[in-house]
Amino acid sequence: MIEPDSNEPLLEVREVTRRFGALVALDNVSFSIRKGEIFGIAGPNGSGKSTLFNVITGIPFPPSEGEILLAGQPIHRMRPHQISREGVLRTFQKDAEFATLSARENVYASAVYCGQMTSAQANDAAEQALEDVSLAAERRAKAASDLSVFERKQLMIASAIAGRPKVLLLDEPAAGLTKPEVSGLSELIATVHQRGITVVLIEHVLPLLLKVSEHLMILNHGAVIASGKPEEVVRNPEVVEAYLGKREAKL
Ligand code: ADP
Ligand code: MG
Repeated sequence: MIEPDSNEPLLEVREVTRRFGALVALDNVSFSIRKGEIFGIAGPNGSGKSTLFNVITGIPFPPSEGEILLAGQPIHRMRPHQISREGVLRTFQKDAEFATLSARENVYASAVYCGQMTSAQANDAAEQALEDVSLAAERRAKAASDLSVFERKQLMIASAIAGRPKVLLLDEPAAGLTKPEVSGLSELIATVHQRGITVVLIEHVLPLLLKVSEHLMILNHGAVIASGKPEEVVRNPEVVEAYLGKREAKL
């Protein structure tokens, strides 16, 4: 098991490229994330954000070139299940829960599979995680498909916590939420962070991204065009030109 050392980056992406035939979806991307950080990522549609999560987790494919290190150890040649057991977990843009299993069973499965717990430990971890995200007790036995959009986000975060990640990669978690629900989501992200989990957040909802991120990186056409303090990055002329445009007025 890879154990983090507080002096080195927890997750490091070095010169990563991902090609699909002639298309370069990620073009020589490098960055590093400190332990305990909330690291935000934004960029136009098709700029390579989800592909970055794909190559970090190996789900469903590794990088074409480059290296990915967790606490200094290479993970880019590991199988996806090994990467998740080393503590790099992701969520997906589309719902990815087991629709016919109950909320409780979904979180339990994550604790067993990703957190590698015994059944008794997983039962406890599942109940605790559902408590942490405040999913109402009477909803926990409902099939995941019967939950509301926000309850499915609570379930997604509970499943992630129960899997005991070191790093959690969230791919546009605010999709489909109303404004008040986005505030609720930011509290859920804070809950994850308080558990000592490092968070990487891809998000289109900029107020959320700016509220929670300590560092912001912008991708455009698969390349990093800016990376730094969020309030500085959103004022970068290249970022405004490539991505923010009229949206900047809404910040
Ligand atoms: P984002 O998440 O930033 O919207 P993606 O990472 O999903 O962007 O996609 C980046 C680019 O890579 C897009 O042009 C997309 O069509 C392409 N792409 C992503 N996955 C595949 C794939 N499996 N096969 C071919 N092209 C892909
Ligand atoms: Mg995407």
